[in-house]
Amino acid sequence: MANPFLFLEYEPAFETLGSDYYDQVSAAEFPFHILRFRNDEILTQLGVDPQSVTDDHFIEAFGKFESVRPALAMCYHGYQFGEYNPQLGDGRGFLYGQVRGTNGELYDFGTKGSGQTPYSRNADGRLTLKGGIREVIAAETLHRMGVKTSRTLSLIETGEKLYRSDEPSPTRSAVMVRFSRSHIRFGTFERLHYFGRADLVENLLNHVIKYYYPHFQNDRDCYALFYAELVQRVATLVAQWMAAGFCHGVLNTDNMSITGESFDYGPYAFIPSYNPRFTAAYFDHSGLYCYANQPWVCKGNLERLQQPLSMVIDPKDLETGLDLFDSQFQETYRQLMVNKLGFEQLPRPESEEFLKLTVNLLKNNDLGYHNFFSLLTQGFCQQWQEDSTLICQAEGLPEFEGWRKSYLESWQQLYHHYLQTLSPTEMQEMKARLQQHNPSFVPLRAEIEAIWEPIIVEDNWEPFYTLLQQVKQGTKQEAETKRTT
Ligand code: AMP
Ligand code: MG
Repeated sequence: MANPFLFLEYEPAFETLGSDYYDQVSAAEFPFHILRFRNDEILTQLGVDPQSVTDDHFIEAFGKFESVRPALAMCYHGYQFGEYNPQLGDGRGFLYGQVRGTNGELYDFGTKGSGQTPYSRNADGRLTLKGGIREVIAAETLHRMGVKTSRTLSLIETGEKLYRSDEPSPTRSAVMVRFSRSHIRFGTFERLHYFGRADLVENLLNHVIKYYYPHFQNDRDCYALFYAELVQRVATLVAQWMAAGFCHGVLNTDNMSITGESFDYGPYAFIPSYNPRFTAAYFDHSGLYCYANQPWVCKGNLERLQQPLSMVIDPKDLETGLDLFDSQFQETYRQLMVNKLGFEQLPRPESEEFLKLTVNLLKNNDLGYHNFFSLLTQGFCQQWQEDSTLICQAEGLPEFEGWRKSYLESWQQLYHHYLQTLSPTEMQEMKARLQQHNPSFVPLRAEIEAIWEPIIVEDNWEPFYTLLQQVKQGTKQEAETKRTT
């Protein structure tokens, strides 16, 4: 049976930009290939029947990298922890190909761990199996939580021994294929500015607008409109992370997509409890990229992007665009928190107090962030409308004392106040909305670590597949994760 991956209609969109933007590379050869994860939901998104795709098809295309288009290592620089680094680029990945989804949008298949490239510096060009597993879990969880994110199409174990300072070594290797709108980063533009190439900035900008902001293509102000929309997309994304309790961990400009989509999950974490200073990356000593800093860090990255863009866009237009960030972030975050509490909308400005109180309640207690919303969702019932003291009480909330108790009581009274404004139908909708916005399971770091243990000790993948199932629980789709045995 012909491999459907080799018969997709690949569009050489990025390739057409020319060799100023990439290097042609080839994939490494690996000792063996074992498919550990395949994402059939993405096949459906591409109009491919998952039944027609065998595990061997995955291995041929995304483990052995048989392909119909050249493999392109994309060039980029970036600000890393505030320092400009001109030594970046795809050092362990490449663009395998670009295809349209059934929605008409163009997507990348981008590899991670596929071998060395001219940008590998002294590193091995590889991905650890654990790193691959962690990225699969991040993307699937964020997707379930409604965050605009890249996904993982496949994860294939490749049989090498890798040495890493942050994992017990030797550790196992893998190659992953990421499915995302684009791997063009803020840093892709920054590199062109570094070389003083306004012409290449302009070409790339036209390319980005053509493929990812096509509604502005024929507009005289398309550059200004593009930047304003990017600002809004990024502000929306950060609001989604904050509501999802997600800390990306490494918000360097080479990890910021020009489409405003979330991607590249290294030392990320879902926050265990509401701690604004929670920092995900062990090497982030100053806590620069901590949970609460994410909005202003992303805004700062958008501001940095003005440097290359101002080679072709009027700086005044860029300033006007950036001004949209704060209100877009605040509005989206507010709305998402209102939804997480189960409401469709709450009256303003009076409900601001209630929202602040919710965050303060979470901040000043050992209540887990996700745990709290999960308790709210599971416990929610009609009786809460009658008696405020019942709210969140049946489902194992710890006993509060002193000022914490009075905090909880004030919060319960306000929640109760808003419940009383609802009709019976609206009360029913609350339950559904709570379920939609609060997944029953969000994997914290310890839970992700726990699945790794059985894999290394006895090659037992059950906990990994179970965790993915748990992540998906509450969604309408059937779980479509694939195990290979
Ligand atoms: P990341 O931490 O994955 O965002 O990568 C930052 C930069 O380091 C990118 O240019 C990567 O391509 C490069 N890089 C990270 N790990 C490796 C590796 N094992 N081999 C080669 N390049 C790498
Ligand atoms: Mg990266």
